[in-house]
Amino acid sequence: MRGRHSAPDIPFLGRSFALGRFDGKTALVTGASRGIGRGIARRLAHDGALVAVHYATSQDAAQEVVEEIEKDGGQAFAVGAELSDVSTVEAMFGALEEELEKRTSATSLNILVNNAAVGGPPTLPEDVTPELFDRYYAVNARAPFFVAQRALALIPDGGRIVNISSGITRSSQPDQIAYAISKSAVDQLTLHLALHVAPRGITVNTVAPGRTNNQSPIFSNPKAVEQMAQMSAFKRVGQPEDIADVVAFLASADSRWITGAFIDATGGTLLG
Ligand code: NAP
Repeated sequence: MRGRHSAPDIPFLGRSFALGRFDGKTALVTGASRGIGRGIARRLAHDGALVAVHYATSQDAAQEVVEEIEKDGGQAFAVGAELSDVSTVEAMFGALEEELEKRTSATSLNILVNNAAVGGPPTLPEDVTPELFDRYYAVNARAPFFVAQRALALIPDGGRIVNISSGITRSSQPDQIAYAISKSAVDQLTLHLALHVAPRGITVNTVAPGRTNNQSPIFSNPKAVEQMAQMSAFKRVGQPEDIADVVAFLASADSRWITGAFIDATGGTLLG
């Protein structure tokens, strides 16, 4: 793997951004032990951020992400918290502050990516139970709110919050109704928080992925992958890097004039 400082610049829309744009910055990516979160953590660290790799139960996987980042010349550490229980948010931030203090002699958090979420099998509206509804809501809606609320005590002026939603909040899929309701709360979190923190130059934006290869078993089934690919205008499923590049832009200084936005990162799935 290339070292962070020896890699060439990454081309982006005809321009190129110098690597190291997050040098001296710190980031927390929730749900970074696998899937899209892992891709985001690796990308932010590759560009120079010190990244807190959050996990719920997959401590070994989170540690692997930390090692991948370190091999790439970056800096990271893991923090664990089961976010369905909101009381763990304070414990997670306690551990985060301790690690930041140790590494940077400060507790500033420049970038928060609210990515952790739970999904589940198709469940039609008539089969949704209060327990299922509450589980989705606790992890996918309530936790990002309280994580953002607590993070704001550490985020300096000019900081960045990126909330990961889903294209499903802008299209109809009845058998994912409970999940979609919980994810649409993320869109509202962005909209209302963005205006509140704008006086401090903090931006808050939503990135909405479509079907993205998170290495779950369905992505090893060629027939299923082909079906999912047909949903995108580009006729392929997304990769974590497709989302991570968008998040990195929104986490950077270049996105300073964008806040409260819903960024469709579904590869054109919502075009119909
Ligand atoms: P994933 O592979 O299922 O990984 C989920 C991550 O969230 C893991 O790191 C997991 O930690 C963490 N997590 C799960 N339950 C948690 C809990 N109760 N408390 C704290 N952390 C928890 O996810 P993904 O598919 O990459 O999705 C990432 C984000 O993109 C989510 O917000 C999802 O809604 C959104 N999204 C994904 C897709 C897609 O096709 N993949 C499409 C649209 C939107 P552990 O590993 O420790 O369990």
